[in-house]
Amino acid sequence: MDERYDPSKIEPKWQKLWADEHTWEVPNEAALDANKSYVLVMLPYPSGEPHIGHLKVYSVGDAIAHYRRRIGQKVLNPMGYDAFGLPAENHAIKTGQHPRVSTDEAIASFQRQFREWGISIDWSREFGTHEPRYYRWTQWIFLQLYERGLAYRKDAAVKWCPNDQTVLANEQVIDGRCERCGHEVEVKQLEQWFFRITDYADRLLDDLDTIEWPEHVKTMQRNWIGRSEGAEVTFTCEELGIDYPVFTTRPDTLFGATFFVMAPEHPDIERLAAGTGHEAEVRAYVNRALNESAEERGDIDKEKTGVPLGRTVTNPVNGEQIPMFVADYVLMEYGTGAIMAVPGHDERDYAFAKAFDLPIRRVIEGSDEESGRDEEGLPYPGDGPMTGSGRFDGKGNREAYAEIVAWLAEEGRGETAVNYRLRDWLVSRQRYWGAPIPIVYCEQCGMVPVPDEQLPVELPEIDDYAPQGKSPLAAAEDWVATECPKCGEPARRETDTMDTFVDSSWYFVRYLDPSNTEAAWDATAATHWLPVDQYIGGVEHAILHLMYARFFTKALADVGVLDVQEPFANLFAQGMITRDGAKMSKSRGNTVSPAEYVERYGADTARTYICFMGPPERDADWADEGVEGVNRFLSRLWRLCEEVEGRGAGVDVTAPELDGDARALLAKAHWAIDKVTRDFQRGFQFNTVIAAVMELVNDAYRFKDGLYGDPEGAATVRFAAATAASLIFPFAPHLGAEIWERLQGGRVWEQPWPEADPALLSSETVTLVVQVNGKLRDRIEAAADAPKDELLRLAHASEKVSRFLDGKEVVKEIVVPGKLVNLVVR
Ligand SMILES: [Zn+2]
Ligand SMILES: [Zn+2]
Repeated sequence: MDERYDPSKIEPKWQKLWADEHTWEVPNEAALDANKSYVLVMLPYPSGEPHIGHLKVYSVGDAIAHYRRRIGQKVLNPMGYDAFGLPAENHAIKTGQHPRVSTDEAIASFQRQFREWGISIDWSREFGTHEPRYYRWTQWIFLQLYERGLAYRKDAAVKWCPNDQTVLANEQVIDGRCERCGHEVEVKQLEQWFFRITDYADRLLDDLDTIEWPEHVKTMQRNWIGRSEGAEVTFTCEELGIDYPVFTTRPDTLFGATFFVMAPEHPDIERLAAGTGHEAEVRAYVNRALNESAEERGDIDKEKTGVPLGRTVTNPVNGEQIPMFVADYVLMEYGTGAIMAVPGHDERDYAFAKAFDLPIRRVIEGSDEESGRDEEGLPYPGDGPMTGSGRFDGKGNREAYAEIVAWLAEEGRGETAVNYRLRDWLVSRQRYWGAPIPIVYCEQCGMVPVPDEQLPVELPEIDDYAPQGKSPLAAAEDWVATECPKCGEPARRETDTMDTFVDSSWYFVRYLDPSNTEAAWDATAATHWLPVDQYIGGVEHAILHLMYARFFTKALADVGVLDVQEPFANLFAQGMITRDGAKMSKSRGNTVSPAEYVERYGADTARTYICFMGPPERDADWADEGVEGVNRFLSRLWRLCEEVEGRGAGVDVTAPELDGDARALLAKAHWAIDKVTRDFQRGFQFNTVIAAVMELVNDAYRFKDGLYGDPEGAATVRFAAATAASLIFPFAPHLGAEIWERLQGGRVWEQPWPEADPALLSSETVTLVVQVNGKLRDRIEAAADAPKDELLRLAHASEKVSRFLDGKEVVKEIVVPGKLVNLVVR
């Protein structure tokens, strides 16, 4: 008795029991239960030690998992590691140590800490994506896509980091520099593997309506796909006899096109400039432009630059010859990499026309006098009657839109079209530490997929991990040289590896059947567990990872091996933890090491604090005082348990004859149950959940000494302590389990979630402040649902208050139920 709260004694005990008894493992038969719940937190990238964001996301996920288990759901909560990737490889380049070694070390550290945090993981399903038993199936999926034409090779201008000697995704290029090393990025033509995600653009867009995701995440997905409707219109360079289709959302402004602009990456630039005398100027401009980021180039306020190509194209609606330019504000990724420029009705084109003194023509009238336009109201973005547009003059522009497209279609010069911002997914990496692409090149047979029975194509052992402009795998001559699976002649292996986003696009399915050696997964398990009921992760993954996982799910459904269209029915995107108002970073020196806090305060304190910081979807600032506050709260709960352990056992406290403080405390416990349950049902209101348990513990302290005297009173305090333990268990599982065991016996996680007694809820009392002329004069207790006149009666009845009313006239009575009564006197 009377021991102080010492998590280092409590926590290992329960961790050992959960490990020994495999408590959180769930068999696949559980998925047959209509009440199955697949709760999944995004798998971590194992590098070094887990950081504070990991502690947050796994604490949040665990709270949900525990709550759902106790309301009777069969919860699957697995764990794995996104284990391929650059940090381990760069470490290998520096040290010569195999990336597997540092990766496995990091994994061991993550495993140990997750256990020390008491996260309720089904460890029987664990894997790393770098294990051949996993990537064998990543390769199998690649081949499924290949067979269906969804994986293909093409020459592509790629962003290339000459320092890292690797291709970079657009997202890895920040302001024209490599995200990893800061080196200036170059553009290079390389034959690359792509996944045809653009075939799924409409489905990826439409199916967003079928899932419960935060609206801002859906918006990010929609913008990334970037669907726009318009027309494809063909302009012709007569001198060279080349057609240039452009995509436009505004075919109604075609008569206003006064020049034509091509992206610097456009493959025809050199050919067009050749022989015009502009070659040198064009080449210099293109080289410079390619090193700017897409964001920079797309910036509407950026000063417009460009150079003439010395050629013209014919505008198909009026036969006019308009000059061609190359300019960086046109992106190859958008549409066809060329645009018709309509300076009278488009801001960017207007700025360019002004800078280059090109004609600006108005073809839609309108009286929108918005500031920032010139004296003629240009560029004019609005609707109105057509002008300067031949036979369409006088018609409304929306009506003319359809007619112009129809006319162009008749002439064979255009058609309605849909354009997407989404590009095919470049999956080739010239790196070592990834899943090899299972393709063989044969002189006779060309590209040949590696047959299933030869999978996995395992990574060869090599000495030098540093890339030299080609994949390090190319150096493994014995590995590269192979036999053609088709004709048996000597052939060579593909030496590119896959983007690590491929690995994480299907891991949630492999958890369902992780040791299957015959298939990627068992169809029945997938049918019953999927979709993931609750997916949880950082908002930084709101675009790419989620888009790719959705694409894989749809593609694999088309292959016939999955029967869901969406992988994640619900998504929770958590906010960041900052410190001193800034994002944590090693260079700023403001990081918080979870291990340090767990060691000092215990995992329960660290987890509870992190869930108490505020609504978890928002960013929150770390404060040591906050950690200490939560630690004090758990210590108080612990001492309460110590005190009541020997009191009030075996007495029924639901007896209706309780009154006074006992009844008030019992009611408080039921109020807490009700509040916590409702907040869990609403989602992730963990800060208010924990606050309610704190209130309950405070009330227990307030009443306990007066209640210990009689058995029922003592039993009420005991009930309050056990209830607090039960409710805090999802956040502080060790302490919750320990107190429950000592007060109630048995295991709290096997207890059904408590239910509030409605009869007690209505009689809950609250404390109200009574003011006279806005000054605090007394506090009164009243039933939470007491009507206003009852509250006024109680306020007037207070002696402390009546002193200030004597001889005065009450001119106004303000009642805020649950909070205050203010009497205004004169
Ligand atoms: Zn780099
Ligand atoms: Zn062959």
